Amino acid sequence: MSQFTIQDGVLHAEGVSLSAIAERFGTPTYVYSKAALLENFNAYHDACQGRDALVCYAMKANSNLAVLDLLARQGAGFDIVSGGELLRVIAAGGDPGKTIFSGVGKTVEEMQLALEKGILCFNVESIPELHRLNEVAGKLGMRAPVSLRVNPNVDAKTHPYIATGLKANKFGVAFDDALDTYRSAAALPNLDVVGIDCHIGSQLLDDAPLLEALDKLIELIDTLHGEGIHIHHLDMGGGIGVDYGVAGDKPAVPVGDYLTRVFARVDAWRAEKHEGRPIKVIFEPGRSIVADTGVLLTKIEYLKPGVEKNFCIVDAAMNDLMRPALYEAWMDVQQVTARAGEAVTYDVVGPVCESGDWLARERALTAQPGDLLAIMTAGAYGMTMASNYNTRGRAAEIIVDGEEAHLVRRRETPAELFALETVLK
Ligand SMILES: *Cc1c(COP(=O)(O)O)cnc(C)c1O
Repeated sequence: MSQFTIQDGVLHAEGVSLSAIAERFGTPTYVYSKAALLENFNAYHDACQGRDALVCYAMKANSNLAVLDLLARQGAGFDIVSGGELLRVIAAGGDPGKTIFSGVGKTVEEMQLALEKGILCFNVESIPELHRLNEVAGKLGMRAPVSLRVNPNVDAKTHPYIATGLKANKFGVAFDDALDTYRSAAALPNLDVVGIDCHIGSQLLDDAPLLEALDKLIELIDTLHGEGIHIHHLDMGGGIGVDYGVAGDKPAVPVGDYLTRVFARVDAWRAEKHEGRPIKVIFEPGRSIVADTGVLLTKIEYLKPGVEKNFCIVDAAMNDLMRPALYEAWMDVQQVTARAGEAVTYDVVGPVCESGDWLARERALTAQPGDLLAIMTAGAYGMTMASNYNTRGRAAEIIVDGEEAHLVRRRETPAELFALETVLK
């Protein structure tokens, strides 16, 4: 159920109107719904009830401390891709023991930090990384828990920039090299081989490629078992897509159904071939936890009629929301207050000095300067990808809980943007 609804002609987040939020906190501003966040997390959590399973929220999608805190209180683990993200988990009261460290470029310092904090597992992506981790763990007199990110070479049928499980991607260890890589890992003295993982891409509308990847991981676990390498957890990565409102692009599978299918396959395999041995199943969802919990609220500055196109110039820009510029992503745009009159077709663009600075193309709007627009389904890969390009302070972030709006990140001031800089003497 969407927590963004029109009440008395005005778009609301739960019980608070977006116009009231704009008046109180200004624009551009990200507005999230707490109820939507918990609902999305619980779709995973509920499907895992009574099972040996863990949901590790991929926090790169939205890493605001308040979001992390709410999820940690529900029992979430976390999937991180940097030492900075680990420090966020800890600052938000999350449990490092339920945290998984992904990514192709972990530094020595990041490995040390993660070992000292006692994370659940390193998802390792290459042989040089195995050797580095072995060395770092040895120096600390510790053993590092590792999983290998295996690249099952299945086509996730998503945008090339967010497909990650093909041979041509920088991520993971090729399926055909996985056995040898596991042998290398098992031979290193300071590593404990505990898991296997994959992440084949993002915004998958169907779970068929994920289930295909699962079958390949299961096949590999059996092969490894024959070699005396025992896998204790199987990590499916993230990837279930969300409904951005694009015709024909609706996710075909609810989260609960996807998890049910994963567990059914795992159970059948355990009973048939794995001699009933336990195996923990881990999920790393990002987008499907936060995307539809948030909107980017922006104000129209100017309407600019053009020769070939009309432009609706708003106070949010590509630095606030990069998805359209980066992936040509289609984001739904809604007027916060409906207005009578004839609709005109506009490209919704920001003030940044780049032709790539657009948020939406060819949208019919009746809006006037000063009106508010909401860029919908912007809770994932929105604020976390924001930059300060053009010396623009990043947007404020609000979480709405029922009738209350809480400021969870204040707007940056211009002075803060150059506070770390110095001139030559
Ligand atoms: C980004 C990422 C995720 C989350 O992907 P979503 O599509 O947002 O669910 C999970 N695991 C890894 C390793 C990632 O890089």
